[in-house]
Amino acid sequence: MIPFNKPPFVGKELEYMQQAIANGKICGDGAFTKKCHEMLEKQTQSSKVLLTTSCTHALEMASLLADIKPGDEVIMPSYTFVSTANAFVLRGATIVFVDIRPDTNNIDEKLIEAAITPKTKAIVPVHYAGVGCEMDTILEIAKKHGLLVVEDAAQGVMAYYKGRALGSIGDLGCYSFHETKNYSMGEGGAVLVNNPNMLERSEIVREKGTNRSRFLRGQVDKYTWVDMGSSYLPSDINAAFLSAQLEKAEEINENRLASWGRYYEGFASLEAAGFAERPIIPAECSHNAHMFYLKVRDIEQRTDLISYLKDNGVAAVFHYVPLHSSEAGLKFGRFSGEDKYTTKESERLLRLPMYYGLTENETDYVVEKVKSFFGK
Ligand SMILES: *Cc1c(COP(=O)(O)O)cnc(C)c1O
Repeated sequence: MIPFNKPPFVGKELEYMQQAIANGKICGDGAFTKKCHEMLEKQTQSSKVLLTTSCTHALEMASLLADIKPGDEVIMPSYTFVSTANAFVLRGATIVFVDIRPDTNNIDEKLIEAAITPKTKAIVPVHYAGVGCEMDTILEIAKKHGLLVVEDAAQGVMAYYKGRALGSIGDLGCYSFHETKNYSMGEGGAVLVNNPNMLERSEIVREKGTNRSRFLRGQVDKYTWVDMGSSYLPSDINAAFLSAQLEKAEEINENRLASWGRYYEGFASLEAAGFAERPIIPAECSHNAHMFYLKVRDIEQRTDLISYLKDNGVAAVFHYVPLHSSEAGLKFGRFSGEDKYTTKESERLLRLPMYYGLTENETDYVVEKVKSFFGK
């Protein structure tokens, strides 16, 4: 069986975890956490990167830093993970869902302005599959209307839009290091603080609402409760695990891109024959091969293909069920405008096995089986 995902493992994880334990400081913000912060700041050019316990928590931090209050509205696509919405719902916001573009499955930037009301506080673009949203347009709209931009870049580590790292472009960016993502610490994430006005408060919110970080740097002589916050910092053991993978970030990225490219070439004839569509990457985006998907005719054909592949030892899976039509989505949000593509595209998208270490033989086997399903 070719699995859908295998968590990345590069070899030095255990050694670094042992070092973290030997350091005698396995709580948050130890030596390995600092090392991860430095590596990520260098790669993204963000002024501050802070590891968190998950991307869900990075999004919750962003919601606190954006000062979301009951009654505020937050604009995002409906085709995303529940955490994108939950983070703002937890602070009392109403979610305003906007349709996606059929080419990238990202929020359609041309529909955002029509969704803005006097209550709108923030726009949350989600970089689906590590392919950047149309950020220049989104930043322009945000500036014009005085809104904050929080990037859900959970899938976007090591991917770029016009040469800028995803997550480093809006006021805040959120990364995931869950084991299903390109780089992993089991459960974990990071918040990228790009807005200089949020730098100090980001440390406070992450450290239970205290000024402990300033205290540890010797900037205040005792630490106290200064704001609301929670515990969003991971153990240094998890950071040690991640640091081994961040050291090999280029290698992991190239390996995934090679598999992605092999799928892409392999399915060219299937697309030319009109059986399935391959992903579209806009010229201004360089992606990270987080995912390889195909779009087939409709949900029935997708269900048949998933079970055909399963019978042939290949684990292929569908993805998000749109949030706006879910039980909680109906309660906490509304859809702005027409759902022209969100439901339709979500029903015909199929993800194929993709992970660090996927072999050429495995990729070729998957391509062959998909083609044989279509009688090719
Ligand atoms: C994975 C993912 C998340 C959640 O990440 P966790 O680290 O598991 O909390 C949020 N948003 C998107 C788009 C994701 O893909």
